Order: sequence, then C-alpha cells, then structure tokens
Amino acid sequence: MINVSSSPSSKSVIMIMLDTLMDKPLQRALKEERIPAFTYFMEHGNYFSNVVTPFPTMSVNVESTLLTGQYSDQHGVPALVWYKKEENRIINYGTHVMDLMKLGLSKSMYDALYRLNNEHLNKQVKTIHEDLHEQGKHSASINPLVHRGKTPQKLTIPRFIRYFVPIDKQVETFTAEKFVYGRLSKLSPLKKYSRVWNKYGFNNNFSVQEFTHLVDHNEIPDFSLVYLPDHDKNVHKNGPMDTKGIKDMDKNLQTILDSFPTWEEALKNYIWILIGDNGQSHVKKDRRQAMVDIRKLLLPLKITKLSRGVHKDDQVVVANNLRSCLIYSLNTEDVPLTTIVEKLKEDDRVEIIAWKMNDWIHVTSTNNKDTFHFKEDGEMKDEYNQTWSVDGDPSILDLHIQEHNIHFGNFPDALKRLHSTLHSHQGNFVVTSVKPGYEFSGEVTPSHPGGASHGGFHKNDSHIPMLVTGTESIPESLRLVDLKKWILNLMK
Ligand SMILES: [Zn+2]
Repeated sequence: MINVSSSPSSKSVIMIMLDTLMDKPLQRALKEERIPAFTYFMEHGNYFSNVVTPFPTMSVNVESTLLTGQYSDQHGVPALVWYKKEENRIINYGTHVMDLMKLGLSKSMYDALYRLNNEHLNKQVKTIHEDLHEQGKHSASINPLVHRGKTPQKLTIPRFIRYFVPIDKQVETFTAEKFVYGRLSKLSPLKKYSRVWNKYGFNNNFSVQEFTHLVDHNEIPDFSLVYLPDHDKNVHKNGPMDTKGIKDMDKNLQTILDSFPTWEEALKNYIWILIGDNGQSHVKKDRRQAMVDIRKLLLPLKITKLSRGVHKDDQVVVANNLRSCLIYSLNTEDVPLTTIVEKLKEDDRVEIIAWKMNDWIHVTSTNNKDTFHFKEDGEMKDEYNQTWSVDGDPSILDLHIQEHNIHFGNFPDALKRLHSTLHSHQGNFVVTSVKPGYEFSGEVTPSHPGGASHGGFHKNDSHIPMLVTGTESIPESLRLVDLKKWILNLMK
C-alpha cells in the first residue's frame, strides 16, 4: 500500500516546515556557522529566497493556505485571533495561555483541537490530505495545527490538562492517515520529548522523532508535512538575525537525514521541500516606543474584555494578531468603520489601515491624507495576473504602476492578500498593521520589545525562503497559495 521504494516517475514528497526560517539569517548561518544539513540541501537543490506567505502572517492562516491552495476568503481561517459574528465571540487558537484562560479554557481548547480543522476550515475547499486520499494516495501530518484529512482519528487529552479543563478524554477528528499532534496523537511508542515540560510534544525533537519512526518502518507516504515549531520563540526573543535556532534546526535535519541509509539516498529517492512559514520584523527595545496599545488608540470606545466576552454595552471587538489587528464595530450606526480608521491614523507607527465599503477595499495610512481604493476585476493587472480596478494614491500600498501593470514593493501580493482578509469572515471590521519596529499590545497577548514579531503586512513578515531538491519543477508563482497545485503535480 505505502509507497516505499519510489520509481523516478512517482517520488514521494517530504515537506519540512521550519517555523520562522528567513533568508537573511539563513544566508549568514551558511557563511558563518557549521550547518551541514542545510548546506547539503543547498548544494543539491533550488533555492527561492522570497516566497509570499498569506496575511495576517500567523501560522494557522499560513498552514490553511498551504494545505488548501486558497487564501482565507476561501479557506475561512482568517487569523490566529478573530471574532466570529455568528456566535458573537472571540476565537483564539492560542496566542498565550493567559488569553485562553480569560476566554474560557475548555471552549478555546476545543477551538484549537477540533473546530479549527472540522468547522472553521471551510469544508468546500479540500486540503492536500483530502485530495491525496481521493486519489488513493497516502499522507502524513506531523505536528502542524491544521491537518484536516479523511481518516478518523482520536486525540487523547492528557490527564494533567483534564485536571484543569473540563474536556472529554478523547476528541474525534478527521486527519491525514499518519497523524501526529504532540502527545495527543502519535505514531511511535516513545515518550521522550512529550512531557508537560516539553509542551506535550509540540517541539522540534518530537516532530523529528515521530517522522524518523516512519522512515525506520519504511512507511514514508506519498506526502509528508513535518512541522518544526521551535525557532519562532528564538526569533521573538533574540531578534530576526538569530542563528542559534538555525543551528538547532540543522541538527534536527541531520537527525532526519541520518535516519536514511545515506544522505545521498535520502535526496535521490525523495523530493524534499524545506520552507519557512512567516518572517518576523524586529521590535524596538524601548517598550513604550515599541508597543502600540490598541486600547489607548481606540479610546473612548468600549472594547470587549476578553474575560467577560461580548457585553451589550461594548462597541468594538479587538482581535490582536501581534503586528496586525482586526477591529470590529459591533454596530456601524453607533461606530462607523471610518471612526475606527480616524483613530488609527493618529498614530504614525501604524502602517496600513484597510476596510471594505460598497464593494471597494479602502486603504489609508497615517502619513497620507489621501486614500487608495480597489476592487476585483478591471483594467489593471498585477504580477500574478490578477485583475483589478484601482483609484486614489497607489503609494499608500507602495504599488508601482506602469500603464496597466501593477508591481509590488514593500507589500507583496498586496491587493489579493488584503482583499482575501477582508472577505474571510462575516462582520464589519478594519484590518491594520504596524511598521517594522512595532507591535500591537492589548489586554494580554505576548509582547516582544528588543526581539521580533510577525502578523504584519510588510514584506519582512511576508517573505519566506524555500529549498527544493529532487525535482527541477518550479511552482507557477512564488506564493505559498500556489504551492498546493504544484505539490500535487509532483506526485502525479
Ligand atoms: Zn510567533
């Protein structure tokens, strides 16, 4: 059943998603550090430094886009934190355990463990795992948060969590055939790296241990997505140029390559795709300067308190995604979106402010009195052959327009990424993002002064590198949203 020895026509694909892998620090590490595995992959593959990742640049949105080949207007998972109008509540898949406590742990845990994959991720779109299943092919999902497939599986909630949270011992879900989700669902009998203090297996060593279990048992399926989460926190803490985390990931890659008879055979027999998930921008050291307190900016509007949930007196809901924010008006007659826009414009650390009105997307920024408007279809064509009608000052989005062609500057795939975010879910909201150097702060959400952060619209957050070996085939365009089609074709 399982494709072990692969003929040249049907090589299996092993995709390793390295959280927060970025081009510049990787280039520096290749020059200055000893990172034999990355070096080996580099010497034998094609390297793409700037693949465009979706906005907001947060893992759940990125993974949903990778797996479905769609932006959030189609896949329906807008961000890590968002407001679900139909249920009148804030969804938070887990920025910080304190946020989850305030939102009610069991509900939030169920959002992350079950609803994200089985309800929020639009059933009308198919994941790579679902497509492969329909083609009679096999796949593995090792630790990504988004993993919907066609195979029924049970998540077993550790006793220690159940001690604090009223949640069933087992949660049924549908995933890839080979499925790892920390200690909650695993393949190997090993307990190492999956204790409470190892975040229950949501770490690089555990992902590697579980994937090499498949290698050891000759069970590598047609497609494997292996997620290594750890580097995110190194960069948050130490800043974008952190290379220690890259050395650690190199050790993880060495362990993976060592599980094959030889590194040569590993590369000869499989297609490897190493890819980041989002970039990060530096955050200034001085906390007062670096942190943009969204609650202060929106004064005197009444903002929903996380602990209390949406209250009848509330006027706005804030969904904080680190360097971006979704701000919802609960009643546009009471608080028109333009009121929120005017308040955001008062802070010159805010880079982009966008909202939807009468079919048009409106964009403005603090440095600009003018606005820019756009909508789908029209005379103008962008770098990805998407067509648009545009009006107003294009410099707000750093667009370079020559005759009918639109080229992007600091905000890659700016139009489609904003358009999809503003069409990803119900509600009247403004989306905003801060300049490099800054981060939003709110009721709790973690902050990273002197380090780095993501979630933003800027290219710093939006460009990820990709390294491919074992094929000369190149995706249609260098956007994460275009990889699914290419990956499925690699296996044909
Ligand atoms: Zn992060």
